[in-house]
Amino acid sequence: MAECLPGTLDMNGLPITRVQLTAPPLSRIVEALLPELSNNFETVIVEAVPCPDLTQSPFNLAAEGLSGDETVIDVGSPSYLLPLVDRNKLYDMGDLKRVTGSDPMFAVGAGAGPWPHIGVNCEFVGNVQISCNHVNNSSHVYRVDRQTTEDQVHENLPRNETRFALLANFYTCNGFGGEVLRIVCESRKGPLDFVTSVRQALAKRFGTDPVGLGGVILIENGTVNVHVMRDFSKTPINTESELNKWLKFYNVTTPLVGLGYLVSSDPNLDLRPQHFHLFSQHGLGGHYHYDTEPATIKYTAYLNVAKTLIRVDQPEQAISFGKD
Ligand SMILES: [Zn+2]
Repeated sequence: MAECLPGTLDMNGLPITRVQLTAPPLSRIVEALLPELSNNFETVIVEAVPCPDLTQSPFNLAAEGLSGDETVIDVGSPSYLLPLVDRNKLYDMGDLKRVTGSDPMFAVGAGAGPWPHIGVNCEFVGNVQISCNHVNNSSHVYRVDRQTTEDQVHENLPRNETRFALLANFYTCNGFGGEVLRIVCESRKGPLDFVTSVRQALAKRFGTDPVGLGGVILIENGTVNVHVMRDFSKTPINTESELNKWLKFYNVTTPLVGLGYLVSSDPNLDLRPQHFHLFSQHGLGGHYHYDTEPATIKYTAYLNVAKTLIRVDQPEQAISFGKD
């Protein structure tokens, strides 16, 4: 029997909250990060630099830079995946352009992929530039192989497949060149993963004043623990341990490129505090958790500071797990 597939939701018809952020200058972010990151990594460089051309290898992004209309966006929620999936929660990257008003709009981020196109639930690595109606789509998806239920499978999305599902976290901007934050951390000696260490350093300095960063992280010289979601669970997932049984975890080899955002404090919007998805040229990727070879690991991040935070389709009921 043919399955009836849902249409894409019109994002402008959904609840949208916009928050203007303080957006501290890069020099203040550098001051906040240096001492804290040095507690967690042996070698740390944090500086403001002109953004390298991110369309080039190893980044291969859809736009050159991270400047202009800098915004972090949280769409949907794990509440739409757990305990059981809401298949109506299907969104389109094209709507992000209308929601932000940015033209061109460049979006990078992490979410759930367009399952009606892929055939099963999947991890989404969003990497799209839209100017006027021209779409440059270099997004990736990772899913768990249907036959073996063990291996992960990578697919590039076609240019016109700009949908995603359920939940996603994006950094958006015009994609212009400009000054950005460059963070290099090598050899981890502390307990925190890279993204958490950056977020906690910002929270320590800026308190309840939210600072949002987003962009790209290159990970080299080690292996990384990630998960890839299996197809939607037919039985309800009600606890963290049930969730972790349903997710498929992998240790993947570097080099890996991560796209996503982090926000240091939640102004009562049920935000996901951090979310990066990884892709590579060797077929491996997924949702970033932590590095597993701390002695050799190297992170090189290019991130920019958001001036605006946008929350789209916040659920009425927050969920107490599933945001790691
Ligand atoms: Zn994820």
